[in-house]
Amino acid sequence: MKIIIIGAGISGLSTYLHLRKHLSASHTITLHESHRPRSTLPTTSSSSSTNPTLTLDTLSASTALVGGGLGISPNGMRVLRDLDVALHDAVAAQGFPAERFVFKGANGWALGKQWTGDGKVRGEGEVEEVCISSARHGLWEMLMKRVVEEGGVVRYAKVVGAERDEERGQTVVRVEDGEGGEEVDRADLVIGADGVRSVVRKALFGEEEKEYQPKYTGQSGVGGFLKTPIPTPLTEDKSMVFTFGGNGFFGYASSAPASEESLMWWSTFETDALPATKNIDITEIKQQLVQRHKHWKDPIIQDIIKRAEVQSIYPTWTIGELPYWGENGIVLIGDAAHAMDPTTGQGASQALEDSQTLALLLAECLKRGEQGQLDGKQAIALTLKLFYQIRNPRVQEIVERGKKISGSKTNVGVVMEYTMYLFLWLLIKFPSIGLMMLGDVNRKLYTWSAEEEIRKALHKWDTAT
Ligand SMILES: Cc1cc2nc3c(=O)[nH]c(=O)nc-3n(C[C@H](O)[C@H](O)[C@H](O)COP(=O)(O)OP(=O)(O)OC[C@H]3O[C@@H](n4cnc5c(N)ncnc54)[C@H](O)[C@@H]3O)c2cc1C
Repeated sequence: MKIIIIGAGISGLSTYLHLRKHLSASHTITLHESHRPRSTLPTTSSSSSTNPTLTLDTLSASTALVGGGLGISPNGMRVLRDLDVALHDAVAAQGFPAERFVFKGANGWALGKQWTGDGKVRGEGEVEEVCISSARHGLWEMLMKRVVEEGGVVRYAKVVGAERDEERGQTVVRVEDGEGGEEVDRADLVIGADGVRSVVRKALFGEEEKEYQPKYTGQSGVGGFLKTPIPTPLTEDKSMVFTFGGNGFFGYASSAPASEESLMWWSTFETDALPATKNIDITEIKQQLVQRHKHWKDPIIQDIIKRAEVQSIYPTWTIGELPYWGENGIVLIGDAAHAMDPTTGQGASQALEDSQTLALLLAECLKRGEQGQLDGKQAIALTLKLFYQIRNPRVQEIVERGKKISGSKTNVGVVMEYTMYLFLWLLIKFPSIGLMMLGDVNRKLYTWSAEEEIRKALHKWDTAT
């Protein structure tokens, strides 16, 4: 079988590795990626601006966007462990193990701390995973290194469209040839790992895709990295700090081992005005940042703002629930299928879970093919059907929970601001209130198992046929 993965971001690279692990070497897998990565992660040590001209086009792709940071949740780290312990350890080692989330109010109040580990919900003897605070680029680089070690080759060319060739039972992928023309490539299975502005989503839904285009949430974020000794509270407490205010949100954490002195920060705020898509004015955005947080009490925030350059800008785009993720040999994964609010802290981890589930399912369905229960086309069709049945409810639950808490990052008046502090304090101080309102979030998040879900889905299918 020939498989084409479009997009060599987090989900594309991870899918390649899971497919290589679970499928026989006789299958051909190719990767197409539109953006060549920058080789180094920029950090700033002073406020002098060295930024090249930025546009949303270059900033939107995570391989090009080296400025963003994220937390890889215990469930995401467990997918990496299942894939390859050495890769898991490399990802953990390039980041910072954030054992605690520290929540604060802009007025300086300490709202509480939360342990990030999944130890409480794991069985005895199992290693505990904690949240790894990391530059996106750091996670991406470790995945890419592993892909190269596996003999994977990324073809750097933009995919402009894909169409079904019913006669041959394949999908034709059109790729820019770099000279103004197009080349075509064909595959039995095309995996759209091409992010929130997916071309593959258009190929899957055709005209209907207009209904499923990304929506701007009204929130934007700016962020960057500062070359500076990591503040002692972060290293002593092994923590990521999240501060909520009436006019936005500010987060900071170490993105690497403390000795590397890479402090990542981000500021999220409500705005109807999207940054202009061409030539973003960094000076103006920096002024807005200073203005927004000038009364915030945490001296670390004030120090970061004084010295930082804005290196990344992320208007938050989300995709509503899609009626299906795959059909006719085309499937979507990661942000292409379900770009979610960053408040969930789950975008990368859900992309990792997608990739593991898709590869394991395909391997199982192909086995049924070898046993004569299905032909190759039917094996792919069953994979895509069950993939959606297994993954969509999981993802939607996380999206819904994100909606409940994303209000805490929007503009509010003083009374609401203090109500929000009280609410957050209560949630952290009395976990039983959180349990009542949101359910046992961590248990659900951290005990989900792709293998278990696949076993159940296939058992159901086996008994029905
Ligand atoms: C502000 C912000 C904060 C976040 N914080 C967190 C967090 O704390 N924790 C977390 O887990 N996640 C977080 N995320 C989300 C996370 O970064 C993404 O959800 C995750 O990277 C999804 O990966 P992906 O591979 O599906 O998409 P992407 O990483 O967007 O990769 C898509 C790839 O496809 C390529 N591509 C696109 N179009 C084409 C084309 N036509 N042809 C060829 N290639 C193409 C792109 O260049 C890119 O490399 C955050 C996101 C944002 C915006």
